[in-house]
Amino acid sequence: MEQDIATLSTITHLYCPSCNKQYSIYSLQTFATCCNQPLLSAYNTNQVSKEAIDTSISSMWRYAALLPLLDESNLVSLGEGWTPTYNLSKTAGKLSIDKILLKDEALNPTGSFKARGISAAVSKAKELDIAHIVIPTAGNAGGALSAYAAKAGIAATVIMPKHTSETLKEECRLYGAELILLDGLIDACGKKAGQLKQEKGYFDMSTLKEPYRLEGKKTLGYEIAEQLNWQLPDVIIYPTGGGTGLIGMWKAFGEMREMGWINGKLPRMVVVQTENCNPMIQALQYGAIPDSYIATPSKALGLAVPRPFAKDLILEAVRTSNGTAICVSEDEMEQGIHEIASSEGILLSPEGSATYMGLKKLIEKDWVKEDETVLLFNTGSWYKYR
Ligand SMILES: *Cc1c(COP(=O)(O)O)cnc(C)c1O
Repeated sequence: MEQDIATLSTITHLYCPSCNKQYSIYSLQTFATCCNQPLLSAYNTNQVSKEAIDTSISSMWRYAALLPLLDESNLVSLGEGWTPTYNLSKTAGKLSIDKILLKDEALNPTGSFKARGISAAVSKAKELDIAHIVIPTAGNAGGALSAYAAKAGIAATVIMPKHTSETLKEECRLYGAELILLDGLIDACGKKAGQLKQEKGYFDMSTLKEPYRLEGKKTLGYEIAEQLNWQLPDVIIYPTGGGTGLIGMWKAFGEMREMGWINGKLPRMVVVQTENCNPMIQALQYGAIPDSYIATPSKALGLAVPRPFAKDLILEAVRTSNGTAICVSEDEMEQGIHEIASSEGILLSPEGSATYMGLKKLIEKDWVKEDETVLLFNTGSWYKYR
């Protein structure tokens, strides 16, 4: 399975998106402590042409020149990324819009697109000699970390809400991780991870409090562009929890524009959340997530993130792209799973269904027009929610 990455990384440094303060790529980093923001990776983009894409590699590592790994002997890969993008022509016909595309991330190793971020982050953890990783998770990130840590020979501790599915718990144990179950949502798990970091010196791989999961997730943006022959869709609907994929795609589009790989208008970025947990809708409405905001669990486990650390970067991507945020109910997600399964032959995860039901609402509001191309995501495998 393991393929050589011939192209060396062109990464130069990490920086704070608020004040541009630089951080070294040669030592262990967490987040931009100067401004309490995620750290972003900078590359020597003027050295990278489309020819740098190694098309013989059918994983996200085809973009190794734009990923942070310095020495390919540290690569920890299970074949993540380079997932198919389907044309849902029947659904587009029914909804009377030009084109609906679905990127099927359920086909990733461990059944979700968390594999992308975790492959990048665990590879870098190996490169930086980290011995023990801890991760708070709603479910899928824990499974992915457990698998990649097993492959890397790094110890892993996964902290997950008790109400998560048996499948999501059991896979962590099978991959040999230590599993800690807690009452509450991912924010409670995040507190416990912080505590273990303090007490035992574990490396905390929380979303965007570690720089490189974002780089793995940004490959979504590169793949969409390459698969659509460098013509981006008009609208991208993203099921948003911590926001890594949304911020990552937006970063990828910026990089591709800089390198001259794409030009013209960028997609309008849409955040989809649930009625049970929609902090980004609150933030767009009130300018910030109200202190009093309380979320409740949702079957869309990956969207149950009450206070995303990267809220500022999520808002920036939505605002500068002229995007929007929308939410769907638990019943609507169930309905969407039935509709797409019975008409397209594809089982969506609840989060994937949320992107489809979000689209239906945006068409009703006339926010998406009939001559537009829209891209949806199936971010995880339905089978893992049993
Ligand atoms: C984590 C997750 C999400 C949310 O992804 P972010 O990039 O953290 O916003 C969506 N869907 C599924 C299935 C997930 O596991």
